[in-house]
Amino acid sequence: DMVWETIGDGLLLLDHDGEVVLANRAVAEQLGSVPATLGSILPLPLREGITESRRTSAAGSVLVETGAPSRWLRGAITPAAHDHTLVVIRDVTDERRLDAVRRDFVENASHELKTPAATIQATAETLRGAAEDDPGAVPRFAARLEDEALRLSRIVSDLLDLSRLESGSSTDEVVSMAAVAREECRRLQPAADEAAVALRLTTEGPGTVRGSAQDLSLLVRNLVDNAIRYSAVGAEVFVDVRSANGETQVRIRDTGIGIPSRDLSRIFERFYRVDRARSRETGGTGLGLAIVKHVVENHGGRTSVESELGRGTTFEVTLPAEPTR
Ligand code: ADP
Repeated sequence: DMVWETIGDGLLLLDHDGEVVLANRAVAEQLGSVPATLGSILPLPLREGITESRRTSAAGSVLVETGAPSRWLRGAITPAAHDHTLVVIRDVTDERRLDAVRRDFVENASHELKTPAATIQATAETLRGAAEDDPGAVPRFAARLEDEALRLSRIVSDLLDLSRLESGSSTDEVVSMAAVAREECRRLQPAADEAAVALRLTTEGPGTVRGSAQDLSLLVRNLVDNAIRYSAVGAEVFVDVRSANGETQVRIRDTGIGIPSRDLSRIFERFYRVDRARSRETGGTGLGLAIVKHVVENHGGRTSVESELGRGTTFEVTLPAEPTR
């Protein structure tokens, strides 16, 4: 094969008369077939771009959507020696999709940060007024300020965790999921007490896995925290760790409000919430399950969730077990 056949980009060379003198395989894939002449190049915007470049002897660039399923192609057009024209066609569909995801994310994140920031500003103003007119109300507004500031820093800290996790969990430690679960239950005990929810931990063996202790703790913390926050007063949350068949399983089961089945496929998306008010009231950021998803992926594991509205939810994380010696 000639070297240009191995290139992923489409290469198209037209001569002085508009005959196609060279086209690689990628062009056929991108355009559906290899055009013989300038006049038969489709999609039309690409042909027009090439025609324009040839007329002005200037380089040009065309972005077109084509085909079904639709793909985005960017054609870079360059005048070459002897009145030839070189067209390099790149499939930019994935890039554009990523760009869109990123744009959405920045928009969402900005919105999420703006809300507490605006509340802080308004409360600070009210507080200043109250300091003169109604000193008795000052502690209430101060507490409000504290809450919102805490909320803001929680969102930022979750965002930082997410962005770190996106580039992988780097550390390679031997981690006992039983120990992680014990530690996280201990850490969340005050929150459970406040919600009047009982935490029940069961472990069978150490549940050893390999990875980042910090990230695996984050995973368990987010799932147990959710189970507490979406449970009613007096409920129980069950945390089970066990190993079998070369896998370690962490299961978090609650008897709380449950998740409607139509939302199940979306809850791992950033900022996706079933019940915005409940999430907000209980200090949620909408990022917990996105963090869980990334940690599980980074450790080569999988997550399953089962839920029944009004009856409760079970999250099950399965990770490759590290053989204990
Ligand atoms: P949040 O900070 O809002 O809890 P998460 O990413 O942790 O964000 O969860 C996304 C959404 O999934 C929540 O807003 C909630 O609607 C739902 N959810 C997560 N865990 C549970 C659970 N144990 N019980 C019921 N709903 C849950």
